[in-house]
Amino acid sequence: MSDTQHFDLIVIGGGPGGYVAAIRAAQLGMKVACIDAFKSKDGGKPALGGTCLNVGCIPSKALLDSSRQFHNLTHGFADHGISASDAKIDVGRMVARKDRIVKQFNGGVAALFKANKVTAFHGVGTLHAGRKVSVKGHDGKDATLTATNVILASGSVSIELPFAKFDGKRIVDNVGVLDFDAVPRRLGVIGAGVIGLEMGSVWGRLGAEVTILEALPDFLAAADADVAKLALREFKKQGLEIKLGCKVSNVEVKGDEVHVTYSDGKADQSLVVDRLLVSVGRRAATAGLLAEGSGVKLTQRGFIEVDDHCHTGVDGVWAIGDCVRGPMLAHKASEEGIAVAERIAGLPGHVDFNTVPWVIYTEPEIAWVGKTERELKDAGVPYKVGTFPFAAIGRAVAMNETAGMVKVIAHADTDRILGMHLVGANVSELVHEGVVAMEFKGSAEDLARICHAHPTLSEAVHEAALAVDKRAIHKAN
Ligand SMILES: Cc1cc2nc3c(=O)[nH]c(=O)nc-3n(C[C@H](O)[C@H](O)[C@H](O)COP(=O)(O)OP(=O)(O)OC[C@H]3O[C@@H](n4cnc5c(N)ncnc54)[C@H](O)[C@@H]3O)c2cc1C
Repeated sequence: MSDTQHFDLIVIGGGPGGYVAAIRAAQLGMKVACIDAFKSKDGGKPALGGTCLNVGCIPSKALLDSSRQFHNLTHGFADHGISASDAKIDVGRMVARKDRIVKQFNGGVAALFKANKVTAFHGVGTLHAGRKVSVKGHDGKDATLTATNVILASGSVSIELPFAKFDGKRIVDNVGVLDFDAVPRRLGVIGAGVIGLEMGSVWGRLGAEVTILEALPDFLAAADADVAKLALREFKKQGLEIKLGCKVSNVEVKGDEVHVTYSDGKADQSLVVDRLLVSVGRRAATAGLLAEGSGVKLTQRGFIEVDDHCHTGVDGVWAIGDCVRGPMLAHKASEEGIAVAERIAGLPGHVDFNTVPWVIYTEPEIAWVGKTERELKDAGVPYKVGTFPFAAIGRAVAMNETAGMVKVIAHADTDRILGMHLVGANVSELVHEGVVAMEFKGSAEDLARICHAHPTLSEAVHEAALAVDKRAIHKAN
């Protein structure tokens, strides 16, 4: 008798792509297994939630919030007439709080699996031909499973530079930078992307001298140019040293220091720091995932090849999230997970990539949805623009959060909203006004005619929509 267990769906990977797909499939009546390899910090226990929950979105936001509170106490409160002396940061306690939050949600995902009758395996899953999946259990117990459908949701890992190997202490990736035991006096960051800026902000607010080296000549090239310019100015004011067009060629640990050699385009320069974060991008995690003969193909860049509906081309095998093309964002992974589960169930699951919001949780926050002006220009699409600064918004002034603006871009002929770009306080929430408007094919006129509560930050969205047709009330058009 075979001890192979059969499932309607096996999901490999328990991150926001995989665990959400597993839950949605179970809701739709499927018998589901989810295999996840992540080990908890405290003793290698199952830690469902993937990169996002364990070493990504959630822990980084926990530290961003702790460091923001500290920064406000030391720099922001005096203007409100609040004084505090001898403010100190207990890094151990801050990191322990972050760990408690992670653990709480690890338990939350496990409880959701139980409630939805998803069978969880803790170990490494490998896909073989014929939708057979072997599991190498972390507890030493192995299993062989088969399924009618398989979703690969193995996520991503940090790209390592050959001359700057991660040692978890002096040279770190997103994992190590979340667990420093003290505020480094000098922190170097290679890469001014989302992770570099967010983690640079955390340790900078706590007192580290932060230098960020970025190879590209433009700051945040994917963002709207006005938003990027304004954000760069604010980051510099906060003391983040951001050097653009700097290519790192060598990194050496010498005693307690890390020596970084880079070229600024004119000459070789050196930077000496106590810790170095390498955040130059992430690549698909596919090691051990595909057995010979699985039939699943990888792209030239190492991502799992899929079509527009996340199908790999192998009968009944799908792939979602960071291990496939598209933005490496948790909510994109989850939406793909839901869409694939629904497609398997015969429903019309679909993800609209044009309305996936992007957020960078720095201060000010940066967020956008849809096209930038540059993209529209390149595509020859006629457009009109309305902007509004937070400095003219009563609530923003009352909050001392005047840095920033909202930009609404609409089609020049149809007025349909093509993009919304924001920089400022709480724009991670405000951007969803643009997402909803775009999802419902709304126009700038639609947004402009919606009554917005006063005084709120969202009035900046309203005014920017009015400004598209030069009728903003609280600024000269
Ligand atoms: C520091 C940092 C901050 C971030 N902040 C944000 C943010 O604020 N917002 C946002 O949207 N995104 C953020 N991201 C990106 C986000 O974490 C990813 O886009 C998201 O986690 C991708 O989800 P996923 O399910 O595809 O993969 P993952 O979350 O990477 O999960 C994949 C899981 O699969 C497991 N696995 C891999 N191979 C196997 C195998 N063979 N067998 C079994 N298990 C396997 C892995 O161990 C992991 O648990 C951040 C990332 C980092 C690093």
